[in-house]
Amino acid sequence: MDLPLAYASFPVKTVNYAEGWVYGSIEPRRTGESHTVDLSAYRLRDYVGGLGAKVLPLSSSLFLDLANVADDPQEIAFFIKEYGLFDLDNLRHNSDLPDGLREYFERRREFRRIPFAIQTASFKKAQQEIRAMVVLLRSVQTQDAASAQEVSFDLKLVQGSAEAFPEWAEDVLAAFKQRSFRAAELEVLEKEPGEVIALVSPYGVRPAAILSSAYAVAQNLPLAICERDDCRKLFHASRLARRFCSTRCQNLKKVHRHRKKQKEQ
Ligand SMILES: [Zn+2]
Repeated sequence: MDLPLAYASFPVKTVNYAEGWVYGSIEPRRTGESHTVDLSAYRLRDYVGGLGAKVLPLSSSLFLDLANVADDPQEIAFFIKEYGLFDLDNLRHNSDLPDGLREYFERRREFRRIPFAIQTASFKKAQQEIRAMVVLLRSVQTQDAASAQEVSFDLKLVQGSAEAFPEWAEDVLAAFKQRSFRAAELEVLEKEPGEVIALVSPYGVRPAAILSSAYAVAQNLPLAICERDDCRKLFHASRLARRFCSTRCQNLKKVHRHRKKQKEQ
């Protein structure tokens, strides 16, 4: 399902992976100038805005696709190739880059390309955050205080203990909003003459995925996490009672339970 929203990102020209990093370069609209991207976040946005990002439809499954990328650098690279630049921070030439990557950044710039690099660990962290936020929003909706509280602590949205519910849920949602939309700014864009759409400003796939997850939860889409331990896929459940992403997982779990029982006897 496409949402009445779009996001902007930069198509990725090349993508590689090595030693905990996925890296590559994006294609600037303007060429013939040197790209040294080590500006403050605010100026970086202005700078990137001038380069011309591609406007893409914001599909409600973007966050599902993101949440379900396997823990594998090749899979992460495929995802970035398909959806575009993940986060503006990935353009920064920071001192954390290993030597090989720092050289790559310099070489790419000589060719008037804009390099990016993301640590697979920070990609995984973003995935976990998306999952946790989906669980949190659902818990608040279904007034499942225990679950909401647990996730809130994990996300460090609330500190200390809070027994009353839903009084503090308001604070959780406010904190969620602040955190999630930090990197996203909404603009209105005239796509075709007379066709106006909301645009998540060109700040990458991550804020777009957060927005798409918040939209899906607001639309009350039944979302669930597969109960098979080795799967844990986030999926759109056709009925709320569905506990597994597929019949395969359901059967595997049955087999597992059966074996466990046999062992216990
Ligand atoms: Zn599953």
